[in-house]
Amino acid sequence: MRVLVTNDDGIHAEGIKALWRALESVAEVFVAAPDRERSAVGHGITVHRPLRVREMNFSGNRVRGWVVDGTPADCVKLCLEALIPAPPDLLISGINLGANLGTDVLYSGTVSAAIEGIINGVPSLAVSLAADNQAEPDFSCAAAFTRALLGLLRERRLPPGTLLNINVPPCPPRGVRVTRLGFRRYVNVIDRRTDPRGRVYFWMAGEPLDVDDGDPDTDVRAVADGYISVTPVHFDLTNHEMIAEFKTWPLQVGG
Ligand code: MN
Repeated sequence: MRVLVTNDDGIHAEGIKALWRALESVAEVFVAAPDRERSAVGHGITVHRPLRVREMNFSGNRVRGWVVDGTPADCVKLCLEALIPAPPDLLISGINLGANLGTDVLYSGTVSAAIEGIINGVPSLAVSLAADNQAEPDFSCAAAFTRALLGLLRERRLPPGTLLNINVPPCPPRGVRVTRLGFRRYVNVIDRRTDPRGRVYFWMAGEPLDVDDGDPDTDVRAVADGYISVTPVHFDLTNHEMIAEFKTWPLQVGG
């Protein structure tokens, strides 16, 4: 099995190392990642300047890798079209440091890289460690789960156009739940500050406010309860239920 690993935390991320270490004995692993942290860049791509790529190998040159001065989606596009010698059987984006739950997936570079995979017909996983405040993050349980899932994916196929968004709580997880995306909102997002020259600047951060709507089947709830959350995600944002309703509207060309 040929596996492409990417990670929006950048090429030096611990989550990349945890993945190739877990997978190199069971798969042919390729790595492509941005040259710096590009978390929360969403699905951005670089089209107004050149992209520079440098080969950078791991594990005594047994794992081939590339560092790219672009976004996570750039890395996937470059790999699929120009860098890796044959199409991968699986793309794994992660292990991201920090959760990607609910509405996070719309901003997430991690999930966007996996979406780029499924757009191009490559079965894809997004794997995140839902442990934002650990001083020394422990990726071992997330890596072990991903490795076990790789075994399962030799027998079962992911449906086309669907990725698995996986969030792993701190070790040891209590179990695994298949979930839907919950709702996450951030509070105190904009921090207004003053620089040493007296000019005002803003820093966007905030704390997540997990909106618990009482549904035990959300990813937010699963991780809060200590379970690994597995959510099938696709990129069709169409509200299919509302198509019939809007067809009754007297929409006109105008003019
Ligand atoms: Mn990240």
